[in-house]
Amino acid sequence: MQSIENFNFAGKKAFVRVDFNVPLDENFNITDDTRMRAALPTLKKILGDGGSVIIGSHLGRPKGVNEKFSLKHIQKHLADLLGVDVQFAADCVGEEAGAKAAALQPGEVLLLENLRFYAEEEGKPRNLPEDATDEQKAEAKKAIKASQKEFAKRLASYADVYVNDAFGTAHRAHASTAIMADDFDTDHRMFGFLMEKEVKAVDKILNDIKRPFTAIMGGSKVSSKIEIIENLLNKVDNLILTGGMTYTFTKAQGGKIGNSIVENDKLDLALEIIAKAKEKGVNLVLAVDDKIADAFSNDANTRYCPVDNVPEGWMGMDIGPESMAIFTDVILKSKTILWNGPTGVFEFDNFSTGSRVVGEAIGEATGNGAFSLVGGGDSVACVNKFGLANNVSYVSTGGGALLEAIEGKVLPGIAAVEGKPYK
Ligand code: AMP
Repeated sequence: MQSIENFNFAGKKAFVRVDFNVPLDENFNITDDTRMRAALPTLKKILGDGGSVIIGSHLGRPKGVNEKFSLKHIQKHLADLLGVDVQFAADCVGEEAGAKAAALQPGEVLLLENLRFYAEEEGKPRNLPEDATDEQKAEAKKAIKASQKEFAKRLASYADVYVNDAFGTAHRAHASTAIMADDFDTDHRMFGFLMEKEVKAVDKILNDIKRPFTAIMGGSKVSSKIEIIENLLNKVDNLILTGGMTYTFTKAQGGKIGNSIVENDKLDLALEIIAKAKEKGVNLVLAVDDKIADAFSNDANTRYCPVDNVPEGWMGMDIGPESMAIFTDVILKSKTILWNGPTGVFEFDNFSTGSRVVGEAIGEATGNGAFSLVGGGDSVACVNKFGLANNVSYVSTGGGALLEAIEGKVLPGIAAVEGKPYK
């Protein structure tokens, strides 16, 4: 497979799919440019070699052309970050885009308008009448799939090389994230530096495991993590299940959970997970004590109690000190660590200690030589809140993409570049 490091972009035009889906305030100021900075090494390498760059991205979830989601809002900041002028094409597949791409000189950058202004990017029909029949839906789907190929070809026609650096959308088989890769031969399609790092980190967690391997899965619901938990049961030595999903396990085993969050339709599933862990010799670690509150609020009254004896009118909001000690002990003995999801309602300072302690333990284990990967939504917010991002081996930029990769799914954005089949 071609690597970006080895490729000489001199005189070449590269189409780079990035994830510039950055948050904007009501005046269209970027409130967090992490995703833009994450793509800079790739963009700078191409420009430094004497290549030119055509940048494609999505922003938000527009259902058609919508000023609010225009990438022109980020044009100036991108120019500042790159230190070069950035041209803009207001229609990603219009005549102007084609002409500007054709005229692009070495060292120049062209930013295309939001690819999702076209339904072809996602390949899903839009504006179907609510009463559309199954037949009409199937027809519309067929039509959009056909025009999606044309759309992908048009984007591919701008460039000599295709670079995918958008791990955040790697789990989508969209025109720019997967389909257009087919228009480039293996020597002319590759991952960007960010994508390469993400793929390597996931590979270490799934295929290059130093033991003991501990996964810490937190968050609110067991239902949203079930596929990952099932895949991890085949891989880990220790599985710490924490956060809101604790109470589904506690209730399933006959414990009293008071008003804690619970999924009553997942009680059998919890028992199945407990049984499977036993069968596979996985050390399933659940909290033994809780910090409970009499209201879902940072200012609620609090106390500690055993996890299976939460009084009525009270709810579990974070793990207690005994659980922190148990979790810490397991984490410190680990050589590979995956963390997804907080141990409690970490957004409230009074219930964030468990998540901070877990984050610090992971940092300490990493300092002692463990490989640690943190990813998926709230755990990234957690390490940032506690200033621990530099203490772990890798913080993934991909939420859904990372979780699907850990579930063991083939990610179209990766498979397409590797020339492997995907759905
Ligand atoms: P998820 O998106 O599934 O990773 O869940 C993250 C959310 O779970 C965070 O917003 C936490 O506040 C929430 N959470 C964690 N523990 C609890 C708990 N004990 N009760 C209610 N919500 C929780």
